Amino acid sequence: MTVTEQAFAKINLYLDVVARRPDGYHDLVSVMQSVDLFDTLMLERTGEEIVLENDAGLPCDRRNLVYRAAEAFFAALGQQFGVRITLQKRIPMQAGLGGGSADAAATLRGLNRLAGAPFDTEQLCKIAAGVGADVPFCVVGGTRLCCGVGERMECVQNAHDPTVLVAMAGEGVSTPWAFAELDGRFGDFSACAAQADAQLPKILRSLASGKALLDRELLYNRFECVIEPQRPMITAVKRVMHDHGAICARMSGSGPSVFGLFADEQAAKAAREALLATGAKACLCRFEK
Ligand code: C5P
Repeated sequence: MTVTEQAFAKINLYLDVVARRPDGYHDLVSVMQSVDLFDTLMLERTGEEIVLENDAGLPCDRRNLVYRAAEAFFAALGQQFGVRITLQKRIPMQAGLGGGSADAAATLRGLNRLAGAPFDTEQLCKIAAGVGADVPFCVVGGTRLCCGVGERMECVQNAHDPTVLVAMAGEGVSTPWAFAELDGRFGDFSACAAQADAQLPKILRSLASGKALLDRELLYNRFECVIEPQRPMITAVKRVMHDHGAICARMSGSGPSVFGLFADEQAAKAAREALLATGAKACLCRFEK
């Protein structure tokens, strides 16, 4: 038996870091949004082992989040069956687009189908939380407010449906390094928490209304202020998007990917062409509901 799962990338419409935890992790407040840029996983029930193959030269052992997700699934199930997982990568890596987390979540969903759906979505999200911070969100997708390290989620109404241009130029960013940069700048993050308290209701209202176009000041990413000065290509990508009429252009996650939201699809296409001409990766997509 074989099942196929799509692993959708995410962007952060809002992202702030509000506390440093004793375990070294950070509490976040983030409005996460799935987009229809996706990796594809095929899972086949066969043999005795977990066998992983991919077309991107990624490690196929415990270093890969897909493998660790499969182990976590079987540990929760209390038994193991053999599975061959074939991963086709399209989401840029180390980009802030949650590609590894999306693949891990798709693995959990696929194994659950292969096993005859022993877990409901809530149980799958609990297993996912043990695999990685963004994995529970990627199990369910859509638009969600994610808090804590990502394990607390609430549905968010999002009436907007812009054309989304996701682009990336330059080297990937290491997430632990990005958090360390924030630690150096923001200490206990209490000022960030106060700002998030004030700003979050505004973005939630703007998303739900669907009337006013998303205001570029509402979309926020705390990582930008430490990563962007060190990565001029991020600023350059944003400028191309703004020059082509983007409503807003923001970094996603810990970067360096940038998403632009456009009311006009032709303008987004022109921005994509302009970015491709500079050697950047660029891909048009839409919010995945
Ligand atoms: O969950 P993920 O593997 O993406 O996290 C990578 C690293 O990013 C963690 O080891 C940690 O250093 C940092 N991190 C954090 N707080 C979070 C998520 C990640 O400090 N909420």
